[in-house]
Amino acid sequence: MVDVVIIGSGPGGYVAAIRCAQLGMNVTLVEKYATLGGTCLNVGCIPSKALLDSSEKYYESVHQFVAHGIEIKSVKVDFKKMIERKASVVKQTCDGINYLMKKNKITVLQGTGTFAADYSINVTAADGIITNIKTKNTIIATGSKPITLPGIAIDKKRIITSTEALSLAEIPKHLIVIGGGIIGMEMASVYARLGSKVSVVEYLDRIVAAMDSDISAGLLKSMKKMGVDFYTSHQVNTAIVKGKEVTVIATSLNDNITLELAGDYCLMAVGRKAFTHGLGLENIGIMCDEKGRVQVDAHLQTSVKGVYAIGDCIAGTMLAHKAEEEGVYVAELLSGQQPHIDYNLIPSVVYTWPEGAGVGKTEDELKKNNVAYKVGKFPFSASGRARASNDIDGFAKVLADATTDEVLGVHLFGPRCADLISEAVVAMEYKASAEDIARICHAHPTFSEAIKEAALAATDNRALHI
Ligand code: FAD
Repeated sequence: MVDVVIIGSGPGGYVAAIRCAQLGMNVTLVEKYATLGGTCLNVGCIPSKALLDSSEKYYESVHQFVAHGIEIKSVKVDFKKMIERKASVVKQTCDGINYLMKKNKITVLQGTGTFAADYSINVTAADGIITNIKTKNTIIATGSKPITLPGIAIDKKRIITSTEALSLAEIPKHLIVIGGGIIGMEMASVYARLGSKVSVVEYLDRIVAAMDSDISAGLLKSMKKMGVDFYTSHQVNTAIVKGKEVTVIATSLNDNITLELAGDYCLMAVGRKAFTHGLGLENIGIMCDEKGRVQVDAHLQTSVKGVYAIGDCIAGTMLAHKAEEEGVYVAELLSGQQPHIDYNLIPSVVYTWPEGAGVGKTEDELKKNNVAYKVGKFPFSASGRARASNDIDGFAKVLADATTDEVLGVHLFGPRCADLISEAVVAMEYKASAEDIARICHAHPTFSEAIKEAALAATDNRALHI
Protein backbone atom coordinates (compact mmCIF):
# COMPACT_ATOMS: atom_id res chain seq x y z
CA MET A 1 0.00 0.00 0.00
CA VAL A 2 1.45 3.35 -1.04
CA ASP A 3 0.47 6.74 0.41
CA VAL A 4 -0.34 8.33 -2.92
CA VAL A 5 -0.55 7.38 -6.59
CA ILE A 6 -0.41 10.25 -9.06
CA ILE A 7 -1.72 9.58 -12.55
CA GLY A 8 -0.07 11.85 -15.10
CA SER A 9 3.39 13.42 -14.96
CA GLY A 10 2.71 16.94 -16.30
CA PRO A 11 3.49 20.01 -14.17
CA GLY A 12 0.51 19.18 -11.96
CA GLY A 13 1.46 15.55 -11.43
CA TYR A 14 5.24 15.72 -11.11
CA VAL A 15 5.13 18.76 -8.80
CA ALA A 16 2.52 17.03 -6.62
CA ALA A 17 4.82 13.98 -6.52
CA ILE A 18 7.81 16.05 -5.38
CA ARG A 19 5.85 17.91 -2.69
CA CYS A 20 4.27 14.66 -1.41
CA ALA A 21 7.74 13.09 -1.22
CA GLN A 22 9.14 16.17 0.57
CA LEU A 23 6.38 15.74 3.14
CA GLY A 24 7.42 12.14 3.80
CA MET A 25 4.87 10.27 1.69
CA ASN A 26 5.55 7.12 -0.27
CA VAL A 27 4.71 8.17 -3.86
CA THR A 28 4.13 6.36 -7.16
CA LEU A 29 3.87 8.44 -10.34
CA VAL A 30 2.18 6.82 -13.34
CA GLU A 31 2.78 8.13 -16.87
CA LYS A 32 1.60 6.51 -20.08
CA TYR A 33 4.15 8.23 -22.33
CA ALA A 34 7.83 7.34 -22.53
CA THR A 35 8.92 10.73 -21.22
CA LEU A 36 7.83 12.58 -18.10
CA GLY A 37 6.64 16.21 -18.06
CA GLY A 38 3.26 15.99 -19.81
CA THR A 39 2.01 18.52 -22.34
CA CYS A 40 3.99 21.39 -20.84
CA LEU A 41 7.45 19.92 -21.23
CA ASN A 42 6.93 17.74 -24.31
CA VAL A 43 4.51 19.60 -26.59
CA GLY A 44 3.53 22.80 -24.79
CA CYS A 45 5.22 25.54 -22.79
CA ILE A 46 8.85 24.52 -23.23
CA PRO A 47 9.03 23.65 -26.96
CA SER A 48 6.85 26.63 -27.89
CA LYS A 49 9.10 28.99 -25.94
CA ALA A 50 12.20 27.42 -27.54
CA LEU A 51 10.79 28.12 -31.03
CA LEU A 52 9.54 31.56 -29.99
CA ASP A 53 13.03 32.48 -28.80
CA SER A 54 14.78 31.08 -31.90
CA SER A 55 12.38 32.78 -34.31
CA GLU A 56 12.57 36.06 -32.38
CA LYS A 57 16.38 36.05 -32.59
CA TYR A 58 16.13 35.54 -36.36
CA TYR A 59 13.47 38.24 -36.76
CA GLU A 60 15.47 40.71 -34.70
CA SER A 61 18.63 40.07 -36.68
CA VAL A 62 16.80 40.72 -39.96
CA HIS A 63 14.52 43.59 -38.94
CA GLN A 64 15.83 45.25 -35.81
CA PHE A 65 19.61 44.98 -35.63
CA VAL A 66 19.92 47.68 -38.30
CA ALA A 67 18.43 50.24 -35.92
CA HIS A 68 21.19 49.36 -33.43
CA GLY A 69 23.83 49.97 -36.10
CA ILE A 70 24.43 46.30 -36.81
CA GLU A 71 24.29 45.20 -40.40
CA ILE A 72 24.34 41.53 -41.25
CA LYS A 73 24.67 40.78 -44.94
CA SER A 74 22.86 37.47 -45.09
CA VAL A 75 20.92 35.77 -42.35
CA LYS A 76 19.26 32.48 -43.05
CA VAL A 77 17.19 30.03 -41.10
CA ASP A 78 18.31 26.43 -40.70
CA PHE A 79 14.83 25.22 -39.73
CA LYS A 80 15.92 21.61 -39.22
CA LYS A 81 18.53 22.78 -36.72
CA MET A 82 15.99 25.07 -35.03
CA ILE A 83 13.65 22.11 -34.54
CA GLU A 84 16.55 19.94 -33.34
CA ARG A 85 17.55 22.59 -30.78
CA LYS A 86 13.96 22.70 -29.56
CA ALA A 87 14.00 18.89 -29.23
CA SER A 88 17.21 19.03 -27.24
CA VAL A 89 15.77 21.69 -24.88
CA VAL A 90 12.74 19.40 -24.38
CA LYS A 91 14.99 16.41 -23.73
CA GLN A 92 17.14 18.25 -21.19
CA THR A 93 14.01 19.45 -19.38
CA CYS A 94 12.37 16.00 -19.36
CA ASP A 95 15.64 14.41 -18.20
CA GLY A 96 15.60 16.95 -15.37
CA ILE A 97 12.26 15.53 -14.20
CA ASN A 98 13.72 11.98 -14.22
CA TYR A 99 16.51 13.30 -12.02
CA LEU A 100 14.04 14.98 -9.65
CA MET A 101 12.00 11.78 -9.37
CA LYS A 102 15.12 9.80 -8.40
CA LYS A 103 16.31 12.50 -6.01
CA ASN A 104 12.96 12.46 -4.21
CA LYS A 105 12.75 8.63 -4.25
CA ILE A 106 9.52 8.63 -6.25
CA THR A 107 8.59 5.37 -7.95
CA VAL A 108 7.80 5.97 -11.63
CA LEU A 109 5.66 3.45 -13.51
CA GLN A 110 5.27 3.71 -17.27
CA GLY A 111 1.79 2.73 -18.41
CA THR A 112 -1.84 3.77 -18.45
CA GLY A 113 -3.38 4.21 -15.02
CA THR A 114 -6.95 2.98 -14.58
CA PHE A 115 -9.13 2.82 -11.48
CA ALA A 116 -9.85 -0.83 -10.72
CA ALA A 117 -11.58 0.20 -7.47
CA ASP A 118 -11.55 3.21 -5.14
CA TYR A 119 -8.07 2.60 -3.73
CA SER A 120 -6.74 0.23 -6.37
CA ILE A 121 -5.04 1.35 -9.58
CA ASN A 122 -4.11 -0.87 -12.52
CA VAL A 123 -1.16 0.29 -14.59
CA THR A 124 -1.12 -1.26 -18.06
CA ALA A 125 2.30 -1.10 -19.70
CA ALA A 126 2.82 -0.90 -23.47
CA ASP A 127 3.39 -4.68 -23.59
CA GLY A 128 0.00 -5.26 -21.90
CA ILE A 129 1.40 -6.31 -18.53
CA ILE A 130 -0.74 -5.00 -15.68
CA THR A 131 0.65 -3.92 -12.32
CA ASN A 132 -1.85 -3.34 -9.54
CA ILE A 133 -1.15 -0.77 -6.82
CA LYS A 134 -3.11 -0.35 -3.62
CA THR A 135 -3.09 3.25 -2.43
CA LYS A 136 -4.46 5.42 0.35
CA ASN A 137 -4.85 8.45 -1.94
CA THR A 138 -4.87 9.13 -5.67
CA ILE A 139 -4.28 12.37 -7.56
CA ILE A 140 -5.67 12.51 -11.09
CA ALA A 141 -3.44 14.80 -13.19
CA THR A 142 -4.19 13.57 -16.68
CA GLY A 143 -4.22 16.98 -18.38
CA SER A 144 -5.88 17.94 -21.64
CA LYS A 145 -5.85 17.38 -25.38
CA PRO A 146 -6.47 19.78 -28.31
CA ILE A 147 -10.00 20.02 -29.69
CA THR A 148 -11.28 20.75 -33.17
CA LEU A 149 -14.42 22.30 -34.64
CA PRO A 150 -17.41 20.18 -35.63
CA GLY A 151 -16.89 18.62 -39.05
CA ILE A 152 -13.18 19.42 -39.27
CA ALA A 153 -10.93 16.41 -38.91
CA ILE A 154 -7.37 16.92 -37.75
CA ASP A 155 -5.22 14.79 -40.10
CA LYS A 156 -1.99 15.88 -38.34
CA LYS A 157 -0.43 16.51 -41.77
CA ARG A 158 -2.16 19.55 -43.26
CA ILE A 159 -4.76 20.25 -40.57
CA ILE A 160 -2.60 20.21 -37.49
CA THR A 161 -2.62 20.97 -33.77
CA SER A 162 0.05 22.81 -31.79
CA THR A 163 1.79 19.46 -31.27
CA GLU A 164 2.51 19.08 -35.00
CA ALA A 165 3.15 22.82 -35.41
CA LEU A 166 6.06 22.44 -33.00
CA SER A 167 7.72 19.74 -35.12
CA LEU A 168 7.04 20.63 -38.76
CA ALA A 169 9.54 19.48 -41.39
CA GLU A 170 9.29 22.78 -43.30
CA ILE A 171 8.34 26.40 -42.79
CA PRO A 172 4.76 26.81 -44.10
CA LYS A 173 4.25 29.07 -47.09
CA HIS A 174 0.82 30.07 -45.85
CA LEU A 175 -0.25 29.03 -42.36
CA ILE A 176 -3.93 29.51 -41.59
CA VAL A 177 -4.50 29.66 -37.85
CA ILE A 178 -8.02 28.97 -36.62
CA GLY A 179 -8.32 30.57 -33.19
CA GLY A 180 -6.83 33.82 -31.92
CA GLY A 181 -6.09 32.64 -28.38
CA ILE A 182 -2.71 32.47 -26.69
CA ILE A 183 -1.47 29.27 -28.35
CA GLY A 184 -2.66 30.46 -31.78
CA MET A 185 -0.89 33.81 -31.37
CA GLU A 186 2.34 32.22 -30.19
CA MET A 187 2.49 29.79 -33.14
CA ALA A 188 1.43 32.55 -35.55
CA SER A 189 4.34 34.65 -34.23
CA VAL A 190 6.86 31.84 -34.72
CA TYR A 191 5.98 31.27 -38.36
CA ALA A 192 5.34 34.92 -39.31
CA ARG A 193 8.84 35.73 -38.02
CA LEU A 194 10.30 32.88 -40.07
CA GLY A 195 8.69 34.25 -43.24
CA SER A 196 5.38 32.36 -43.57
CA LYS A 197 2.32 34.25 -44.68
CA VAL A 198 0.01 33.85 -41.67
CA SER A 199 -3.75 34.35 -41.60
CA VAL A 200 -5.69 34.15 -38.35
CA VAL A 201 -9.42 33.45 -38.31
CA GLU A 202 -11.14 34.16 -34.98
CA TYR A 203 -14.80 33.85 -34.03
CA LEU A 204 -14.76 36.64 -31.45
CA ASP A 205 -14.26 40.31 -32.29
CA ARG A 206 -10.82 40.33 -30.67
CA ILE A 207 -7.77 38.14 -30.13
CA VAL A 208 -6.54 36.80 -26.74
CA ALA A 209 -10.02 37.58 -25.52
CA ALA A 210 -9.45 36.38 -21.95
CA MET A 211 -6.79 39.07 -21.44
CA ASP A 212 -7.36 42.79 -20.85
CA SER A 213 -8.73 44.45 -24.00
CA ASP A 214 -5.76 46.85 -24.17
CA ILE A 215 -3.47 43.82 -24.46
CA SER A 216 -5.72 42.40 -27.22
CA ALA A 217 -5.54 45.70 -29.10
CA GLY A 218 -1.77 46.07 -28.60
CA LEU A 219 -1.08 42.53 -29.74
CA LEU A 220 -3.32 42.86 -32.79
CA LYS A 221 -1.46 46.02 -33.81
CA SER A 222 1.99 44.51 -33.30
CA MET A 223 1.15 41.30 -35.16
CA LYS A 224 -0.40 43.22 -38.05
CA LYS A 225 2.82 45.24 -38.19
CA MET A 226 4.64 41.92 -38.60
CA GLY A 227 2.40 41.16 -41.58
CA VAL A 228 -0.13 38.76 -40.03
CA ASP A 229 -3.63 38.98 -41.53
CA PHE A 230 -6.56 38.84 -39.13
CA TYR A 231 -10.16 37.86 -39.78
CA THR A 232 -11.91 38.46 -36.46
CA SER A 233 -15.70 37.96 -36.09
CA HIS A 234 -15.51 35.09 -38.55
CA GLN A 235 -17.06 31.69 -38.08
CA VAL A 236 -15.10 28.86 -39.68
CA ASN A 237 -17.41 26.46 -41.50
CA THR A 238 -15.01 23.95 -42.93
CA ALA A 239 -11.43 23.08 -43.81
CA ILE A 240 -10.78 20.83 -46.77
CA VAL A 241 -7.50 19.16 -47.66
CA LYS A 242 -6.61 18.46 -51.28
CA GLY A 243 -3.09 17.16 -51.77
CA LYS A 244 -0.75 19.67 -50.19
CA GLU A 245 -3.36 22.42 -50.00
CA VAL A 246 -5.88 23.16 -47.32
CA THR A 247 -8.82 25.49 -47.91
CA VAL A 248 -10.56 27.13 -44.98
CA ILE A 249 -14.02 28.56 -45.52
CA ALA A 250 -15.50 30.99 -43.01
CA THR A 251 -18.38 33.45 -42.80
CA SER A 252 -18.11 37.00 -41.54
CA LEU A 253 -20.43 37.46 -38.58
CA ASN A 254 -20.81 41.15 -39.42
CA ASP A 255 -21.92 41.00 -43.05
CA ASN A 256 -22.35 37.29 -43.83
CA ILE A 257 -19.71 37.44 -46.57
CA THR A 258 -17.87 34.19 -47.26
CA LEU A 259 -14.12 34.11 -46.74
CA GLU A 260 -12.03 31.47 -48.51
CA LEU A 261 -8.37 31.04 -47.62
CA ALA A 262 -6.01 28.54 -49.24
CA GLY A 263 -2.79 27.59 -47.49
CA ASP A 264 -0.41 24.67 -47.09
CA TYR A 265 -1.08 24.19 -43.35
CA CYS A 266 -4.03 24.92 -41.10
CA LEU A 267 -3.41 25.08 -37.36
CA MET A 268 -6.42 24.30 -35.19
CA ALA A 269 -5.98 26.40 -32.07
CA VAL A 270 -9.55 26.58 -30.80
CA GLY A 271 -8.85 25.27 -27.33
CA ARG A 272 -8.25 22.13 -25.32
CA LYS A 273 -10.43 19.62 -23.52
CA ALA A 274 -9.85 17.77 -20.26
CA PHE A 275 -8.44 14.30 -20.91
CA THR A 276 -9.80 11.42 -18.84
CA HIS A 277 -10.02 8.66 -21.43
CA GLY A 278 -8.87 5.26 -20.14
CA LEU A 279 -8.92 6.34 -16.47
CA GLY A 280 -11.96 4.23 -15.67
CA LEU A 281 -13.63 7.02 -13.69
CA GLU A 282 -16.91 5.20 -14.21
CA ASN A 283 -15.52 2.21 -12.25
CA ILE A 284 -15.57 4.26 -9.06
CA GLY A 285 -18.39 6.68 -9.86
CA ILE A 286 -16.38 9.90 -10.30
CA MET A 287 -18.44 12.51 -12.11
CA CYS A 288 -17.35 14.86 -14.89
CA ASP A 289 -19.05 18.16 -15.73
CA GLU A 290 -20.68 19.06 -19.08
CA LYS A 291 -17.23 19.92 -20.49
CA GLY A 292 -15.78 16.54 -19.49
CA ARG A 293 -13.74 17.99 -16.60
CA VAL A 294 -13.36 15.94 -13.42
CA GLN A 295 -15.64 17.41 -10.77
CA VAL A 296 -13.92 18.42 -7.54
CA ASP A 297 -14.90 20.27 -4.38
CA ALA A 298 -13.21 23.36 -2.92
CA HIS A 299 -10.38 21.09 -1.70
CA LEU A 300 -9.88 19.51 -5.13
CA GLN A 301 -11.34 16.22 -3.87
CA THR A 302 -13.62 14.23 -6.17
CA SER A 303 -16.82 12.57 -5.00
CA VAL A 304 -14.63 9.65 -3.82
CA LYS A 305 -12.80 10.31 -0.54
CA GLY A 306 -9.04 10.27 -1.02
CA VAL A 307 -9.23 10.78 -4.80
CA TYR A 308 -8.24 14.27 -5.92
CA ALA A 309 -7.86 15.93 -9.33
CA ILE A 310 -5.67 18.85 -10.43
CA GLY A 311 -4.53 20.83 -13.46
CA ASP A 312 -6.03 20.89 -16.95
CA CYS A 313 -8.39 17.95 -16.27
CA ILE A 314 -10.46 20.08 -13.84
CA ALA A 315 -12.16 23.48 -14.22
CA GLY A 316 -10.11 26.66 -14.38
CA THR A 317 -7.47 28.18 -16.62
CA MET A 318 -5.34 25.65 -18.45
CA LEU A 319 -1.93 26.84 -17.32
CA ALA A 320 1.11 24.95 -16.08
CA HIS A 321 1.60 27.14 -13.01
CA LYS A 322 -2.07 26.70 -12.03
CA ALA A 323 -1.56 22.91 -12.25
CA GLU A 324 1.62 23.19 -10.14
CA GLU A 325 -0.10 25.23 -7.44
CA GLU A 326 -2.87 22.65 -7.27
CA GLY A 327 -0.31 19.83 -7.04
CA VAL A 328 1.33 21.50 -4.05
CA TYR A 329 -2.11 22.25 -2.55
CA VAL A 330 -3.23 18.60 -2.56
CA ALA A 331 0.14 17.35 -1.27
CA GLU A 332 0.01 19.77 1.66
CA LEU A 333 -3.65 18.99 2.34
CA LEU A 334 -2.80 15.27 2.51
CA SER A 335 -0.11 15.99 5.08
CA GLY A 336 -2.59 17.82 7.31
CA GLN A 337 -1.68 21.40 6.39
CA GLN A 338 -4.16 24.12 5.44
CA PRO A 339 -2.94 25.31 2.03
CA HIS A 340 -4.60 28.05 0.00
CA ILE A 341 -4.75 29.07 -3.66
CA ASP A 342 -5.97 32.50 -4.76
CA TYR A 343 -7.24 31.81 -8.27
CA ASN A 344 -7.58 35.55 -8.89
CA LEU A 345 -3.80 35.81 -8.67
CA ILE A 346 -2.82 33.28 -11.31
CA PRO A 347 -1.02 35.35 -13.94
CA SER A 348 -1.68 34.85 -17.61
CA VAL A 349 0.99 35.41 -20.27
CA VAL A 350 1.24 35.45 -24.06
CA TYR A 351 4.88 34.98 -25.11
CA THR A 352 4.74 37.01 -28.30
CA TRP A 353 7.03 40.02 -28.70
CA PRO A 354 6.04 42.37 -27.23
CA GLU A 355 4.84 40.02 -24.50
CA GLY A 356 1.44 40.37 -22.86
CA ALA A 357 0.84 39.54 -19.20
CA GLY A 358 -1.90 40.18 -16.71
CA VAL A 359 -3.06 39.34 -13.21
CA GLY A 360 -6.21 40.06 -11.25
CA LYS A 361 -9.26 41.65 -12.79
CA THR A 362 -9.30 43.05 -16.31
CA GLU A 363 -10.80 46.46 -16.93
CA ASP A 364 -13.75 44.80 -18.71
CA GLU A 365 -14.44 42.63 -15.65
CA LEU A 366 -14.37 45.64 -13.31
CA LYS A 367 -16.79 47.50 -15.59
CA LYS A 368 -19.08 44.47 -15.84
CA ASN A 369 -19.12 44.09 -12.05
CA ASN A 370 -19.71 47.83 -11.50
CA VAL A 371 -16.55 48.21 -9.43
CA ALA A 372 -15.40 51.81 -9.05
CA TYR A 373 -11.75 51.82 -10.09
CA LYS A 374 -8.85 54.10 -11.05
CA VAL A 375 -6.51 53.48 -14.00
CA GLY A 376 -2.84 54.37 -14.21
CA LYS A 377 -1.13 53.76 -17.53
CA PHE A 378 2.45 54.29 -18.62
CA PRO A 379 3.78 53.73 -22.15
CA PHE A 380 7.10 51.94 -22.68
CA SER A 381 7.94 54.71 -25.18
CA ALA A 382 8.52 56.93 -22.12
CA SER A 383 10.88 54.40 -20.48
CA GLY A 384 14.61 55.06 -20.81
CA ARG A 385 15.37 51.34 -20.61
CA ALA A 386 12.87 50.57 -23.40
CA ARG A 387 14.34 53.29 -25.59
CA ALA A 388 17.84 51.93 -24.98
CA SER A 389 16.85 48.49 -26.21
CA ASN A 390 14.49 49.85 -28.89
CA ASP A 391 11.47 48.05 -27.40
CA ILE A 392 9.17 51.04 -27.10
CA ASP A 393 5.82 49.44 -28.02
CA GLY A 394 3.35 48.73 -25.24
CA PHE A 395 2.35 49.89 -21.77
CA ALA A 396 1.96 49.06 -18.11
CA LYS A 397 -1.52 49.46 -16.66
CA VAL A 398 -2.47 49.41 -12.99
CA LEU A 399 -6.12 49.17 -11.94
CA ALA A 400 -6.85 50.16 -8.35
CA ASP A 401 -9.96 50.40 -6.22
CA ALA A 402 -11.30 53.98 -6.42
CA THR A 403 -11.83 54.18 -2.66
CA THR A 404 -9.22 51.98 -1.00
CA ASP A 405 -6.48 52.21 -3.66
CA GLU A 406 -6.00 48.40 -3.45
CA VAL A 407 -4.54 47.03 -6.68
CA LEU A 408 -7.24 45.04 -8.46
CA GLY A 409 -5.41 44.17 -11.65
CA VAL A 410 -2.15 44.78 -13.49
CA HIS A 411 -1.88 44.36 -17.25
CA LEU A 412 1.32 44.69 -19.19
CA PHE A 413 2.15 44.67 -22.86
CA GLY A 414 5.77 45.19 -23.78
CA PRO A 415 9.30 43.88 -23.35
CA ARG A 416 9.84 41.06 -20.81
CA CYS A 417 6.35 41.43 -19.39
CA ALA A 418 6.16 37.67 -18.75
CA ASP A 419 8.80 38.19 -16.05
CA LEU A 420 7.69 41.67 -14.97
CA ILE A 421 4.20 40.48 -14.02
CA SER A 422 5.64 38.68 -10.97
CA GLU A 423 6.08 42.02 -9.21
CA ALA A 424 2.35 42.64 -9.58
CA VAL A 425 1.50 39.15 -8.31
CA VAL A 426 3.67 39.64 -5.21
CA ALA A 427 2.15 43.06 -4.57
CA MET A 428 -1.39 41.75 -4.94
CA GLU A 429 -0.67 38.69 -2.74
CA TYR A 430 0.16 41.20 -0.01
CA LYS A 431 -2.92 43.31 -0.86
CA ALA A 432 -0.77 46.26 -1.89
CA SER A 433 -2.27 49.60 -2.82
CA ALA A 434 -1.19 51.42 -5.97
CA GLU A 435 0.63 53.85 -3.70
CA ASP A 436 2.55 50.95 -2.08
CA ILE A 437 3.95 49.98 -5.50
CA ALA A 438 4.56 53.62 -6.36
CA ARG A 439 6.64 54.10 -3.19
CA ILE A 440 8.83 51.04 -3.76
CA CYS A 441 12.27 51.89 -5.17
CA HIS A 442 12.71 50.35 -8.64
CA ALA A 443 16.20 50.04 -10.14
CA HIS A 444 16.92 52.49 -12.95
CA PRO A 445 16.94 51.98 -15.85
CA THR A 446 14.69 48.91 -15.92
CA PHE A 447 11.51 47.95 -17.67
CA SER A 448 9.99 47.47 -14.21
CA GLU A 449 9.95 51.25 -13.71
CA ALA A 450 6.95 51.28 -16.06
CA ILE A 451 4.95 49.45 -13.38
CA LYS A 452 5.98 51.97 -10.73
CA GLU A 453 5.04 54.82 -13.08
CA ALA A 454 1.67 53.24 -13.86
CA ALA A 455 1.08 52.85 -10.11
CA LEU A 456 2.04 56.52 -9.64
CA ALA A 457 -0.38 57.43 -12.43
CA ALA A 458 -3.14 55.52 -10.63
CA THR A 459 -2.27 57.40 -7.43
CA ASP A 460 -3.53 60.94 -8.05
CA ASN A 461 -1.98 61.05 -11.53
CA ARG A 462 1.54 61.35 -10.09
CA ALA A 463 3.56 59.67 -12.86
CA LEU A 464 6.97 61.35 -12.95
CA HIS A 465 8.18 60.65 -16.47
CA ILE A 466 5.18 61.47 -18.60
P1 FAD B 1 -0.45 17.68 -18.73
O1 FAD B 1 0.76 18.50 -18.80
O2 FAD B 1 -1.32 17.60 -19.94
O3 FAD B 1 0.01 16.22 -18.33
C1 FAD B 1 -0.89 15.16 -18.25
C2 FAD B 1 -0.11 13.85 -18.35
O4 FAD B 1 -0.97 12.79 -17.98
C3 FAD B 1 0.37 13.55 -19.77
O5 FAD B 1 1.76 13.28 -19.75
C4 FAD B 1 -0.42 12.30 -20.16
O6 FAD B 1 0.30 11.41 -20.99
C5 FAD B 1 -0.68 11.66 -18.80
N1 FAD B 1 -1.83 10.76 -18.76
C6 FAD B 1 -3.09 11.02 -19.20
N2 FAD B 1 -3.91 9.96 -18.92
C7 FAD B 1 -3.13 9.03 -18.31
C8 FAD B 1 -3.39 7.75 -17.76
N3 FAD B 1 -4.61 7.21 -17.74
N4 FAD B 1 -2.35 7.07 -17.22
C9 FAD B 1 -1.10 7.61 -17.20
N5 FAD B 1 -0.81 8.82 -17.68
C10 FAD B 1 -1.81 9.53 -18.22
N6 FAD B 1 0.91 26.86 -19.89
C11 FAD B 1 1.61 27.82 -19.26
O7 FAD B 1 1.41 28.02 -18.07
N7 FAD B 1 2.55 28.56 -19.92
C12 FAD B 1 2.80 28.38 -21.23
O8 FAD B 1 3.65 29.06 -21.80
C13 FAD B 1 2.07 27.39 -21.93
N8 FAD B 1 2.30 27.17 -23.23
C14 FAD B 1 1.62 26.19 -23.88
C15 FAD B 1 1.88 25.98 -25.22
C16 FAD B 1 1.22 24.98 -25.90
C17 FAD B 1 1.51 24.77 -27.36
C18 FAD B 1 0.29 24.16 -25.20
C19 FAD B 1 -0.42 23.05 -25.92
C20 FAD B 1 0.03 24.35 -23.87
C21 FAD B 1 0.69 25.38 -23.19
N9 FAD B 1 0.45 25.63 -21.85
C22 FAD B 1 1.13 26.63 -21.21
C23 FAD B 1 -0.54 24.85 -21.08
C24 FAD B 1 0.17 23.78 -20.22
O9 FAD B 1 0.94 22.96 -21.06
C25 FAD B 1 -0.86 22.97 -19.47
O10 FAD B 1 -1.70 23.84 -18.74
C26 FAD B 1 -0.18 22.02 -18.49
O11 FAD B 1 0.66 21.12 -19.17
C27 FAD B 1 -1.23 21.23 -17.69
O12 FAD B 1 -0.57 20.40 -16.82
P2 FAD B 1 -1.24 19.06 -16.27
O13 FAD B 1 -0.26 18.48 -15.32
O14 FAD B 1 -2.60 19.33 -15.81
O15 FAD B 1 -1.40 18.11 -17.55
